[in-house]
Amino acid sequence: MTLFLRLRKLALAGALLLRGTYLAAQAPAAATLLQPAAVFDGETLHPGWAVLVEGERIRAVGPANQMPIPTGVRIVALPGLTLLPGLIEGHSHLLLHPYNETSWNDQVLLESQALRVARATAHAQRTLQAGFTTARDLGTEGADYADVGLKQAIEQGLIPGPRLLIATRALVATGCYGPKLSVDVAVPQGAQEVSGPDEIVRAVREQVGKGADVVKVYADYRLSATGPAVPTFSQDELNLLVTTARSLGKPVVAHASTPEGMRRATLAGVETIEHGDGGTPEVFRLMRQRGVALCPTVAASDAISQYRGWRRGQSPEPERITQKRQSMQAARKAGVALAIGGDVGVFAHGDNVRELELLVQEHGLTPLEVLRGATSGNAHLFHLPDRGRVAPNLLADLVAVQGNPTTDVQALRQVQWVMKGGVVYRQP
Ligand SMILES: [Zn+2]
Repeated sequence: MTLFLRLRKLALAGALLLRGTYLAAQAPAAATLLQPAAVFDGETLHPGWAVLVEGERIRAVGPANQMPIPTGVRIVALPGLTLLPGLIEGHSHLLLHPYNETSWNDQVLLESQALRVARATAHAQRTLQAGFTTARDLGTEGADYADVGLKQAIEQGLIPGPRLLIATRALVATGCYGPKLSVDVAVPQGAQEVSGPDEIVRAVREQVGKGADVVKVYADYRLSATGPAVPTFSQDELNLLVTTARSLGKPVVAHASTPEGMRRATLAGVETIEHGDGGTPEVFRLMRQRGVALCPTVAASDAISQYRGWRRGQSPEPERITQKRQSMQAARKAGVALAIGGDVGVFAHGDNVRELELLVQEHGLTPLEVLRGATSGNAHLFHLPDRGRVAPNLLADLVAVQGNPTTDVQALRQVQWVMKGGVVYRQP
């Protein structure tokens, strides 16, 4: 072979490899045997286990020496790595980027939808590369139904990204969201404004009809840039909103940070409350009784405080952070289930593990608790029985990391290998 031909062949092989790892265009291999150092199955760590993948599903999992090896199987050795279920991000906004780059107001008002979607495709790729194979994306924040197309593009293999649960536009009470520039000027809002039964029923049906997997409502919000949050929807409005979504088979999640907003959302029957900063022992007991989970988004509070100049350990702790610590303590004491999600978008996509790290480092959860939460726990809370565990017949959404993430949360920063639906998107 001439040098030219050899180089040409190398270039072609390189192009194919790029295609295979970058885009999901390549069909999954018939059968692949994964041989890591250990498998975390969503509950427990099993050293010496192996996983057999066929097509887009897991076929078998167990001790490597007892694993059936079909003829023609491709063996992928992952020495020294821990294999775990693909992580599930509980609260993202793929159509937002960090507020220290561009304020939320300016993103909603000044950025074109094309620009926001182009960014979102890069965000989706970074999320997947960080080991998050599913994300619950809780609102486009002014980008209309762009998440529907984004989800389709990922499903069709046009761009790499996590499997998405989407909320589309989300619902806010009329006049109770943002951006707000002046009382004299109406400007596009970050969510769909509704008041009263007719508008609520219509908007829920519109959003679900366009493709919302979950309906998101802002049960409270601040009325001015500096004012405190207040409950926005009445109890009757929230009840009707949840009933309407439920009859269409969709769960409702609520943004809420005031005790009264959280209480009304809980009584209405939402499934998760996002943020919950001002939660009291009483309201967390009510959530526990009603089976409502809390998605505390501690990383968003941390990021926003840092954007405002706070340096952990160097400057006095802002009230926001102290309040978060107290509400988290109360939630845990009441036994409220935690969804794991950081409100990523407020901070950089791909940095999703920040939420898990802070829950361990600042809020006293163990690495095993957050790892279970971000895999089998989130899968359970979000009604995704086909993922979140390493078990036969589940989707082959798998991640391999250096080290032991059941004892060291930082190991989740060392993602070496990512598979989604049997297709490899990242390798060492
Ligand atoms: Zn959010």
